Amino acid sequence: MEVQQRNMKFTTSMIFPPIFLGLIMIATWISLLYIAADSKQNIHKSLDTVLHITEEALQLWLDARLKDLDFVVNDPAVLKLSKTLLVKQDDLALSQLRALMSNQLSKNADQGFFVIAPNRVSVASMRDSNIGTENLINQQRKNYLDRVFEGETLFIPSVSSDVPLMTKSGELRHKQPTIFVAAPIKDERNTIIGALTLRLNPTANFSRITQLGQIGQSGESYAFDKRGVLLTQSRFTEHLRTAGHIGQDEVSTLSIRVSDPGGNILTGFKPKQVMQDRPLTLMAKRAIAGNTAAYFESYRDYRGAPVFGAWTWNEHLGIGLATEIDAQEALQPYRLTRVVILAVLALVIILMIGLVFIPLWFQEREKKALKQHRDALEQTVRERTQELEAANNALKTLSEVDTLTQIANRRLYEQTLSNAIAASKRASQAMSLMIIDIDFFKPFNDNYGHDKGDITLKKVAQIIANSLTRTTDFAARYGGEEFVVLMPSTDIKGAQHFAKSIKDNIEHSAIEHQFSSVANFVTASIGVSSLAGEALNDIDLFKQADNALYQAKKKGRNQVVAFDDE
Ligand code: GH3
Ligand code: MG
Ligand code: MG
Repeated sequence: MEVQQRNMKFTTSMIFPPIFLGLIMIATWISLLYIAADSKQNIHKSLDTVLHITEEALQLWLDARLKDLDFVVNDPAVLKLSKTLLVKQDDLALSQLRALMSNQLSKNADQGFFVIAPNRVSVASMRDSNIGTENLINQQRKNYLDRVFEGETLFIPSVSSDVPLMTKSGELRHKQPTIFVAAPIKDERNTIIGALTLRLNPTANFSRITQLGQIGQSGESYAFDKRGVLLTQSRFTEHLRTAGHIGQDEVSTLSIRVSDPGGNILTGFKPKQVMQDRPLTLMAKRAIAGNTAAYFESYRDYRGAPVFGAWTWNEHLGIGLATEIDAQEALQPYRLTRVVILAVLALVIILMIGLVFIPLWFQEREKKALKQHRDALEQTVRERTQELEAANNALKTLSEVDTLTQIANRRLYEQTLSNAIAASKRASQAMSLMIIDIDFFKPFNDNYGHDKGDITLKKVAQIIANSLTRTTDFAARYGGEEFVVLMPSTDIKGAQHFAKSIKDNIEHSAIEHQFSSVANFVTASIGVSSLAGEALNDIDLFKQADNALYQAKKKGRNQVVAFDDE
């Protein structure tokens, strides 16, 4: 019952901690999932905010550029020269317009201008080579130009340049993508007679505005066109150049396609396909398809690095805008939180194990100590028992042995007597008894002193004991200087013979006794009795032996007398 209870206690104390730990682990896991989801939503919210601020800023800047273009178009001098050139070729008007426009272009770091006739032929430009040919905007973005000729002032996203443009290193390059703003040229009757376009420098203000949307170490905002070409400068131009992703002389603007390399090129990934053949990034694909729904997971950007992003497609400008941040940086706070939570969990587990096992350990130790204590106690009990047994034995000996002579005392004699009588009766044999009394012992004591008397008593007792030959014979001190010898299964003759040898042995020991009247050494008188059968009883046996002793004394001492009825 007690064991069962203890087992039960053991089981419950062992089952609850794992359950508790399991619950804590599940709770931690769920919390971490929740925190991860929440972190991703927060990241997206921040990205979305930056994205829309950037878009707004871009819009404001472009609106200003478009207003400025309207202003330039309606400048009387520009209008007059444009009209002239739209009617006929005029070298003077062209050089005057170039002078005017170059002034205007330098204000905004623009790269060039076109005056386009309704037949879409360029009639004026900074360079002679494209005058008189079909304008490249009409070749590549006809619908935009159509809208200009319908009266709209608008932004025209990337167009491959017809003329070589200056790269960063000063080299002229063909087919460089380029962006424009365009406005209609109207006469006094408000009839559209042509269009004026400005070739913008994408690396200038346009990029600067998107660069405002940089967050942290890796966050950036950028614009791209319908084909996925990067319209603004990448924050990672240097990285891309180092990784050999763009040429040493290239700027990221208009030379990068927002495509997925398939792995992180900044950490050494070598893409299998050239940039033009790669699929667009998840962001670019969705943005160009008009899918601007929030996306909370990470994806690879044009560097192949995992990023979180928010994006939009601006139909009015015909460009997409994205704000992205490296997943590694964005998830830093979440990872820190996770480390803290997991550390706390580990601490809880350690504490838990401690709380369960330390009491068990103590319990075990206590049990051990208790067992040791019990063993010690048992040992003590054993020792005490042995001591007690020894003491009992000593006591028994003490109660049965005469202290002076060290032979049996009167008490043991009396016990032995009745047993011996019974044994002799059973064996149907006679039993004999002798009483031995030292002669003239009073004068011995009186003259030699009590100490000498004691020594003599001891000697005589030893002589009597040593004279016994049978194991059944039994000697005891009866009292004073008197001894008794029990001889079971012995008749009077045997007893007499035996008594005589005792008397002789005492005599031969020759203990000096000058004050004895029978000899000058210690002697003894012995009375012997023997009874058998019905007549055998302790009282008569003693009486007769005592009587015989009396006779021995009377006859002159130092002799053996057997009891005789007569
Ligand atoms: P008898 O020959 O008639 O027996 O003379 P007795 O002197 O031996 O007899 P009595 O009975 O007069 O004296 C016994 C003496 O034994 C008395 C006592 O001094 C001595 N005695 C008795 N017990 C002891 C004892 O324990 N030690 C000593 N030293 N003497 C004892
Ligand atoms: Mg006596
Ligand atoms: Mg005597």
